[in-house]
Amino acid sequence: MTNLAFYINGQWCEPVTSRQSLPVINPATQAPCAQVWLADTNDAGAAIDAAAQVFEAWSNTRLEQRIVMVEAFLKAYQRRYQVMASAITEEMGAPASMSYDMQAETGVGHTQAHLLAARQSVLEHTMGEQGQLLKEPIGVCVLITPWNWPINQIVCKVIPALLAGCTMVLKPSELTPLSAQIFAECVHEAGVPAGVFNMIHGTGETIGDYLTSHPRVDMVSFTGSTRAGSQIAISAAPTVKRVSQELGGKSANIIFADADLGPQVELGVQACMLNSGQSCDAPTRMLVEASVYAQVVAMAKTAIQATQLGDPQRQGDHLGPVISELHWHKVQTLIKAGVDEGAKLLVGGLGKPNGFDTGYYVKPTLFVDVNNTMTIAQEEVFGPVLVLIPFTDEAEAVRIANDSPYGLAAYVSTQDIDKARRVARQLRTGTVHINMADLEYCMPFGGYKQSGNGREYAAFGLHEFQETKVIAGYY
Ligand code: NAD
Repeated sequence: MTNLAFYINGQWCEPVTSRQSLPVINPATQAPCAQVWLADTNDAGAAIDAAAQVFEAWSNTRLEQRIVMVEAFLKAYQRRYQVMASAITEEMGAPASMSYDMQAETGVGHTQAHLLAARQSVLEHTMGEQGQLLKEPIGVCVLITPWNWPINQIVCKVIPALLAGCTMVLKPSELTPLSAQIFAECVHEAGVPAGVFNMIHGTGETIGDYLTSHPRVDMVSFTGSTRAGSQIAISAAPTVKRVSQELGGKSANIIFADADLGPQVELGVQACMLNSGQSCDAPTRMLVEASVYAQVVAMAKTAIQATQLGDPQRQGDHLGPVISELHWHKVQTLIKAGVDEGAKLLVGGLGKPNGFDTGYYVKPTLFVDVNNTMTIAQEEVFGPVLVLIPFTDEAEAVRIANDSPYGLAAYVSTQDIDKARRVARQLRTGTVHINMADLEYCMPFGGYKQSGNGREYAAFGLHEFQETKVIAGYY
């Protein structure tokens, strides 16, 4: 098995000094499917130098030129679409249909939305009586991404950074380097000049601090856990970099008694279970109005019992495994905490599901009669685990929903649109979904509180990678 290489200064290359590598484990088979080199600070330094050297030239290109390159990237991506979907299935266990229809599709949808935003963007205009306002690229960026929606996160950082005129070093998750490798091939094929986009593989432990504290780096855009996001902010502080953080969540799904219960509960369960529960904005706390609580418990139980697990290589709407053995154990620890703290376990629970001895599969699990102070209601499980919490009135629903260290997303189901709007305005989260409405690619994404700082996607994503300059006396 050859080791996956780095992409620095327009060339595929091996580490300068590091001899460390990591197997990429297929979480469904537990067998290695690839091997990836791990960078040390020599490689990270070379990648930052490459990005720094070409910043001046790239930042002075015209937006139209950069748009043409991103259009070429999109063509290259679309040509590799099936390969990309298959790589995601192999490296992180998303079932084939989901990888194709959702995971790989985000690469197309977000690239198109960023292109549209760039075409519509105004990079300079007059201000006041004699001033000119300019939007300029912020500089050299370090982009650090997680494994759960691997290509979504890479696209939502690299594409706006390229369009804004920044140069960059991407460090994708060491657990999902296959999709990143294909992504880098697309950038190369698009003719992006050497040094503008660089990619190294490695762990937070060995190169995290080096990348995020480096004096030549102007911005760190990070998506991942709140733990790592907070460490990165500390590491970036002495050099006063811009730090954008897209972190964890524990999103509430408020089901009012007047909701169209059948479809809303089923959609709520599916959204919680999607990607084996490994989505930052998954609606993992279902808050249910007391008068329909018993009914919703029965509906949620039926929906979770109907959730199938299966081989990710197979087409279908079943769930695959979770990402790794380490993560499987973390999910088990949290399920155990739910049981130990007195939540009522109605479906699923500890251990491997029947017939799934191989692979990091978790039983789709339902806890009911949960109190919002319990660990299972406060901590992000990142597995197929739903908790149900009763509430008595609108004010209590809002209080429980907001009683979380996180503030990424929230969901409200009711047929009373005035109530939905009123509640949505009171929720301390970056996105709110009324009756499970989907986010669109043009909409911003990001969190309040410990879910992060900054917004990604389309025009908001582009803005993250820009500085604002005003020149007084210009006219
Ligand atoms: P993680 O924090 O363990 O790792 C994310 C990335 O950061 C990886 O590339 C990792 O190598 C790197 N890293 C880890 N420690 C670092 C450090 N000290 N310095 C620099 N880099 C470091 O997260 P994960 O397990 O890969 O992803 C799951 C988490 O990501 C969940 O908490 C999830 O909610 C969150 N997430 C958030 C969003 C969002 O948009 N808000 C989207 C997807 C995932």
